[in-house]
Amino acid sequence: MVYLDYAATTPILPEVREAMRLAEERFFANASALHTPGHLAMNEVERCRETLAEMIGAEPSEIIFTSGSTEGNNTIMRTFEGYMIETSPLEHHSILMAAAEYGGTKTPKLYSYMLANNETGDIIDLHKITEVAQQQSADENSEIFLAKDDFGRDLVAVRKGGYIHSDLTQALGKIPINVNKLGLDYATFSAHKIGGPVGVGALYVRKGVPFRALLLGGNQEQKRRGGTYNTVGICGFRAALETIKKQNSTKIYNTKVRKLRDTLAQQILARIPGSSLNTDLGKGKALPNILNVSFRAAEGESIQLYLDAEGVIVSTGSACAAGDTKPSHVLMAKTGDAEVAHSSIRFSFGLDSTMDDVKAVMKVLPGIVERLQKISTIS
Ligand code: PMP
Repeated sequence: MVYLDYAATTPILPEVREAMRLAEERFFANASALHTPGHLAMNEVERCRETLAEMIGAEPSEIIFTSGSTEGNNTIMRTFEGYMIETSPLEHHSILMAAAEYGGTKTPKLYSYMLANNETGDIIDLHKITEVAQQQSADENSEIFLAKDDFGRDLVAVRKGGYIHSDLTQALGKIPINVNKLGLDYATFSAHKIGGPVGVGALYVRKGVPFRALLLGGNQEQKRRGGTYNTVGICGFRAALETIKKQNSTKIYNTKVRKLRDTLAQQILARIPGSSLNTDLGKGKALPNILNVSFRAAEGESIQLYLDAEGVIVSTGSACAAGDTKPSHVLMAKTGDAEVAHSSIRFSFGLDSTMDDVKAVMKVLPGIVERLQKISTIS
């Protein structure tokens, strides 16, 4: 199998599997319990908290464990229930739906912009947004339009006292992240995008900013997230963080993985008529591991199924929207063209992807697209 759907979920790293196996044996006790096995389990939870905090430039007390990014995003949106929530149409549905549910009219406002998009890999210049916001925040009453996004729209207007959240689910491990340099008040992470297990993630919540627990119950996470600790999952999360740190993952993504992505893009453009890129290959424009391509007069879902039959695993739009026949909301927002959105495929690479994966795609993809284009009624 040629697996090129890392942006949906990554295979579990061997180091993670081993860490979780050990944790199942040794750290099964309830981490909140006051007995020795409980303390040992809690010790592992705290080690992961420190590892993540160090990696993103936060304090350990600013990290809250969650079940993943859907929970993390919902928690922050709900914290601002009744307040203005500003997002971009490119956000993940866990932001868009929660913002629609909870957003209101009161200020201060919450701004939520992902650093890197899960469908196209597009990177938004959060640095610029927050820097300008901080510089100009002296003028309390002025609404400040700070930057244009890649599509020429006004990206963010930050008013003094506004809070900034970013969904960093796809960015973690791919590009360097420092929550202070990015000027963030909140950030969302998920373990299964970096070689860890599904069902565990974390929130960064800057000291002193508003926070409202989504899950009420126990006193876990200083009453910020009730529920028995998923110690085994958290140990897996830590092993994934340690592994990508040791491997210097951001560098590998920026060199080896970028080359794979660029090679695939060039070969597709050269060999497949009607293909066009939805990902900007320029440095700093998009994550180096995601390539979104549209194939004129060929349906994305059909391409995906034919590729699957050949053992090549990719996705159309985002996995969360699979089974949904509507075109990708991200590509619709970006291009405004339903055909481009309907005919798109996302290839997403991981640290262990190879040039053989690219070759395997190119062996079958041109024929598949050609066959579909021939039977298409769209000219
Ligand atoms: N945000 C983004 C940008 C994502 O890519 C995903 C995963 N598709 C999520 C949120 C949801 O994450 P999780 O699966 O951990 O709930």
